[in-house]
Amino acid sequence: MGKYYIFQDQKRCIGCYACELHCKTKNNAPEGAKLCRIVPTGPQVVKGVPRMHFVFMPCFHCEKPWCVYACPTGAMIKRSKDGIVYVKEDLCIGCKNCITACPWGVPQWNSEKGKVMKCDYCMDRIDQGLQPACVTGCTTGALKFISPSEASQVKREKFAKDISPLKK
Ligand code: SF4
Ligand code: SF4
Repeated sequence: MGKYYIFQDQKRCIGCYACELHCKTKNNAPEGAKLCRIVPTGPQVVKGVPRMHFVFMPCFHCEKPWCVYACPTGAMIKRSKDGIVYVKEDLCIGCKNCITACPWGVPQWNSEKGKVMKCDYCMDRIDQGLQPACVTGCTTGALKFISPSEASQVKREKFAKDISPLKK
């Protein structure tokens, strides 16, 4: 079962792309490959002012990962102890089935190696008691590495505060 979740507080995100940069550096991702991605949306006019929103898109480490089922060699694996989905590079034959199968196109093509690479929540860092590079590098503390149930609680509380009559 998935133990981890990266929560993004979109109100804190300033679209600086530091998360992408720290991820790319830590994972030595070649040109074109982004293991996490900030997707800008907008502009949208809020209270008369044009605003942009920035949506953080890592891998969701699905409970039933399409990429794992699509992989013909067993290179795409879901780690049993915490549900992290990762690529065992020496088993990857570069068929790209996982890229096709993932609804969000999360697995990335490593043109230098002819293999796929993907977000593994920096599991080597997690195993050392650290957090993913994107979370550590986030400029404003918009990203939080928490459990899915904590994320649900945080979202509920935010929604409740947003609709509270005391806010007006
Ligand atoms: S790569 Fe796609 S299908 Fe696989 S675990 Fe991540 S989000 Fe799910
Ligand atoms: S580092 Fe943090 S603030 Fe900057 S774009 Fe990423 S999520 Fe947003």
